[in-house]
Amino acid sequence: MTAFLTIQEGCDKFCAFCVVPYTRGAEYSRPAAAILAEARRMAAQGTREVTLLGQNVNAWHGEGASGLAGLLRLLAEVPGIERLRYTTSHPRDMDEALIAAHRDIPQVMPFLHLPVQSGSDRILAAMNRGHRAEDYLRLVDRLRVARPDLALSTDIIAGHPGEREEDHAATMALIRRVGFAQAFSFKYSPRPGTPAAGAPLQVAEADKDRRLAEIQALLREQQAAFNAGMAGTICEVLWTGPGRHPGQMSGRTPWLQPVHALAPSHCVGRTTPVRILAGHPNSLSGELVEQERTAA
Ligand code: SF4
Repeated sequence: MTAFLTIQEGCDKFCAFCVVPYTRGAEYSRPAAAILAEARRMAAQGTREVTLLGQNVNAWHGEGASGLAGLLRLLAEVPGIERLRYTTSHPRDMDEALIAAHRDIPQVMPFLHLPVQSGSDRILAAMNRGHRAEDYLRLVDRLRVARPDLALSTDIIAGHPGEREEDHAATMALIRRVGFAQAFSFKYSPRPGTPAAGAPLQVAEADKDRRLAEIQALLREQQAAFNAGMAGTICEVLWTGPGRHPGQMSGRTPWLQPVHALAPSHCVGRTTPVRILAGHPNSLSGELVEQERTAA
């Protein structure tokens, strides 16, 4: 039904807090032909949604396609593949062609995990992220012009070495400005051997805890509002398996929200329209629209 497909490994970015470039080595991209062969096999076995994986997935530059945008175009032609996603992306590798892919390829889902880590230029520089907060915001605007219903998710680190109250305030401001549908946020913890681990001005644990709590409260509020805003809409749900209660099935919206509804078990692997009845903090509940219930 849904499957992950690794297309890229390793990372050349060397963010100051991250061990990946040391543990996983330099960037490597699998050739398009091998990826397409695997996608065709998955589709033949019933996979309808493929999530392309890589530590730096949008830096993919394998043989046989022009960047990730080119690869997505080829994958969209594989019969049976209805949905394409990719994770994890770096803002610096979101090029024009990839932004256009969100506009032009219907199989590319309107949901993007795009880590920002901090909203402070000073901390982004200390992290060696290679972009400013403003660059990220402009990128989000361009993506939303290309795909107005795009929802974003991100990663945020609270209390990176050198982070002051004004840097934390800048992160909160960036979160407010973007409005994330989902996010992962963490308290900075030193990874041995990384530049940030040995950096001066480590932030006190109590400050990290408080900043993380503030960040998470805001992100929770945004996620709940995003989910609540779906109530009353009809959206396409790809059914993935049984839900928690008898007779209930569970699936995913294009925006990756889990949905629960009463549905026949043969729905699994199909995408059907669902009327969303309510949005909860982490999921949605809905009902099959009439013609689907009759067909069931
Ligand atoms: S955070 Fe991501 S981009 Fe940065 S070094 Fe780690 S894997 Fe690479």
